[in-house]
Amino acid sequence: MKGVTDLMRRPFVAGNWKMNLTLAEARQLVGGLRERVAGRPPLDLAICPSFVLLFPVSEAIKGSPFALGAQDVYFQDKGAFTGEVSPAMLVDAGCTYVIIGHSERRHVIGETGDLLARKVRAAQKAGLHVIYCVGEKLEEREGNRTEVVLGRQIDEVFGPDVDLSRLTVAYEPVWAIGTGRNATPAQAQEAHRFIRNRLARVYNEGLAGQVRIQYGGSVTAANAGELMSQPDVDGALVGGASLKADEFAKIIEATIAAKGLK
Ligand code: PEP
Repeated sequence: MKGVTDLMRRPFVAGNWKMNLTLAEARQLVGGLRERVAGRPPLDLAICPSFVLLFPVSEAIKGSPFALGAQDVYFQDKGAFTGEVSPAMLVDAGCTYVIIGHSERRHVIGETGDLLARKVRAAQKAGLHVIYCVGEKLEEREGNRTEVVLGRQIDEVFGPDVDLSRLTVAYEPVWAIGTGRNATPAQAQEAHRFIRNRLARVYNEGLAGQVRIQYGGSVTAANAGELMSQPDVDGALVGGASLKADEFAKIIEATIAAKGLK
């Protein structure tokens, strides 16, 4: 599948467009990205449009370094689930990736750990690479409960039947998403290390050491370099800044430079 490589810690930058962009705007953004990010960059790249844009964006990115991702999925194969989209439908639309457990799905829509665990397994069964999001709320960080929350979000989804070779974790502190207030590089590194250690408890150190962990939360061209320089930060999940071709391209360049890839 396009975009997924054998090298599991190959840096990975993905754009989450959320509920933004018309078809015309999406085409314009993809055009801008294609101008700025060409060839075969030394990292994995993806864009995650809304469901209705998946087919046309899949066409628009053909021949570019960008792979396609969806922002959510349901766990059933098909049937009477009005409004939902199955893993097979995402594959059919050209998706390589799917985001599962974004904080907006957890906290705005009310998705639970049990539901997310089913989604992760169903998505992988269909051949999708999962971007599984975890992150604490501001009151949880301020109450020194960050590790309890991250640990729970890991434990309730991971198990021997989850294929780590088709999984990226995205650490996205809720207080940093769309707020302009990013985690400091030290805070991000500390959380990423914790997540890796927690995965080692479920699997083993060797396997946990190969899992990519993206940072997400107000990543910009200005702060990407420092965040991506952290040893356990393997890329970024970018919201707002991924809607601007120039800014997103600069984040990709900053990641390449921070990881010493050129
Ligand atoms: C996101 O939605 O995953 C995200 C990280 O958003 P932003 O970059 O806008 O904070």
